[in-house]
Amino acid sequence: MKRLTPIFWISLGLVSLTLSILLMSDLAVNLIPDQAAQIITYRQKYSEALAVQYSLLAQSGDEQPIQQALDLLVERNTDIQSVALILESGETMALAGPHYDIWTQPPGTDSTPDHIQIPIYNGDLLWGTLQLRFRSLENDRWSNLLDTAWARFLALVMGSGFLGYFLFMKRTLRQLDPSSVVPMRVQAAFNVLVEGVVFLDHENHIVLANRAFSELVGVEPHNLIGSTLDRFGWVSPDRERSLITYPWETARQQQSLNLDVPLVWERKGETVRKFRVNCTPILGEHRQGRGILVSFNDVTELDATIQELEIAKSEFEKLALHDPLTGCFNRRALFEAFENQWEVVQRDGRNLVCIMADIDHFKSYNDRFGHAVGDQVIQVVAKVLSTTLRPLDIMGRYGGEEFCILLPGQTCAEGVLVAERLREQIECLASQSIRTTSGKKITMSFGVSAASLGASDPLELVDQADKALYVAKQGGRNQVGRWTSEGPVTSQVEPAALTGSRFS
Ligand code: GH3
Ligand code: MG
Ligand code: MG
Repeated sequence: MKRLTPIFWISLGLVSLTLSILLMSDLAVNLIPDQAAQIITYRQKYSEALAVQYSLLAQSGDEQPIQQALDLLVERNTDIQSVALILESGETMALAGPHYDIWTQPPGTDSTPDHIQIPIYNGDLLWGTLQLRFRSLENDRWSNLLDTAWARFLALVMGSGFLGYFLFMKRTLRQLDPSSVVPMRVQAAFNVLVEGVVFLDHENHIVLANRAFSELVGVEPHNLIGSTLDRFGWVSPDRERSLITYPWETARQQQSLNLDVPLVWERKGETVRKFRVNCTPILGEHRQGRGILVSFNDVTELDATIQELEIAKSEFEKLALHDPLTGCFNRRALFEAFENQWEVVQRDGRNLVCIMADIDHFKSYNDRFGHAVGDQVIQVVAKVLSTTLRPLDIMGRYGGEEFCILLPGQTCAEGVLVAERLREQIECLASQSIRTTSGKKITMSFGVSAASLGASDPLELVDQADKALYVAKQGGRNQVGRWTSEGPVTSQVEPAALTGSRFS
């Protein structure tokens, strides 16, 4: 069962006190007049007025109108149960209602609240008595109690008083600075912490916020007390989950630690700060939740540094693997890729083509137009080669104006066709794009070999392709040479026992 809060008991106490004061005041100064006494006085006066009227009627000596008046009286006045006009002799002159059944004679000429007797005089002589039996006040005393204005007043004071006290206490206790009850040395200890620290009560209201948190959010500590953490624009760093259950709420619901939760504080859609939030429930003797201790670790700068480092790292990795002039793989990355491809060749028996490509008479560009133009020629050639190849093909700058190309899964014949297409594209496109500068035609020679032709490792495959390239150069350049089981050949030159290899 839910425990009643201290505020409930205090409100109940206050309302009881108020009722006691009201009741004592009533006893002391008779705040509300006695209703029964008022009724008796009223009955007495009413009866006397009737007696005067009946005595006047009686003087006429005619009993008929008196009887009619009594009948009418009992019939119309529900408060009167019976009435009788008794002559001095004891004879009943007129009566209405079951008078003798319900009339109990009071001593002498006395009246009681329910039995009223009024003597009627003729001059100085007693002529008779008017007896009126009123409805008993005693019987419905208790049932009438709640009907009385006094009881209604007390009930109203009790209900509205309790509600008023309850709401007032709730509001006041929140507004009062509960941190003032926290010893100064405890506050001072929290204030030296670099992390923002906030204590929440069991309803998630802030009861203590240290200086670091107040500075983080830019709100004075006394303005934080009594409010909630939810008022700040917390969002999840994961943009797709903008609606989140706050970590302190989760810790409160589950009554367990909720640590290292990333939270972003946004204002007007812009990230203001990034935090790592730790929430620790504070439990009472019977493990009931008393509140949550929330700490905010500002990681905005750390996060920015990490991001910068990650960008630098990826740029560094790019630099380490790519040739700065052409942007394609450098020799190291090329051989790493080559090793990987060779593993597939060994494992799956898949074929692999290696093409060595070298710009013809490149030295003359440098000599005639300068090194800068030479660089431009290398860049243009690299671009034409890479855009002509398939995405899965691998190309790297092997040396100065030499490129090595790997075609996974291709045969030597397919490799020759690819090399032919590359040769045509270079002759056409590379020359076009550089002609304005040099006016000189750019061509390339190619040497092709494939793993299926018996190379035992990547270096041997490169060596075969390089020998084929050598043959193409020998054959007049701007052509494709290829390795065969009998050695390197070109379309112009038949297989020959070529002696020179640049790797030998
Ligand atoms: P061949 O047709 O026989 O290949 O003739 P070639 O002139 O191209 O042959 P060689 O290998 O003798 O010349 C290559 C030259 O490329 C030598 C070197 O100065 C130049 N070179 C190497 N790397 C670069 C570079 O990055 N930029 C420039 N501009 N020149 C380079
Ligand atoms: Mg060359
Ligand atoms: Mg060369």
